[in-house]
Amino acid sequence: KEVDANDLISGVINTFTLKVEKYNGKITADLKAEDPNIFVDEMHFTNVIFNLMDNAVKYKKPEDDLLLTVTTWNEPGKLCVSIADNGIGIRKEDLKKIFDKFYRVHTGNLHDVKGFGLGLAYVKKIIQDHKGTIRIESEPGVGSKFIIVLPLLNN
Ligand code: ATP
Ligand code: MG
Repeated sequence: KEVDANDLISGVINTFTLKVEKYNGKITADLKAEDPNIFVDEMHFTNVIFNLMDNAVKYKKPEDDLLLTVTTWNEPGKLCVSIADNGIGIRKEDLKKIFDKFYRVHTGNLHDVKGFGLGLAYVKKIIQDHKGTIRIESEPGVGSKFIIVLPLLNN
């Protein structure tokens, strides 16, 4: 289906605002892609964005307020989305594995965060099914940034 990624992401952000405010968190949206039109399964792509934002909330630093920044922009023929947090971050050795099914980082358990370790495996599968890519930039103790690149509809 033809989807305006900026609209879809705004919708997910709206459903998240209350949840984030509960943690004194803040979401900043910078949806500056001038051509946001992609051809995706709307339900699955919504779930992808939801999963990444859900992780940002789950893996926040307990001592800091959550800052979540969602950005869209265009590169030639592409739509790019980044979802960045100031959370606990991910170590290099874990980065290789976090897209694996059932993989969860052992964080020494500051907080009891529940999950199956399936969210990112699903995210990766859906992005690949749409001929896109996903990559992560992360630094332990600083935060993580997930970057999705998808082909534009008219390309
Ligand atoms: P599920 O999504 O199935 O409820 P989950 O959140 O543990 O469970 P994934 O979403 O696949 O599973 O994430 C895998 C692991 O990657 C997490 O357990 C966590 O250790 C790490 N992780 C994912 N996103 C972040 C993030 N934004 N910041 C820090 N660590 C993260
Ligand atoms: Mg998850």
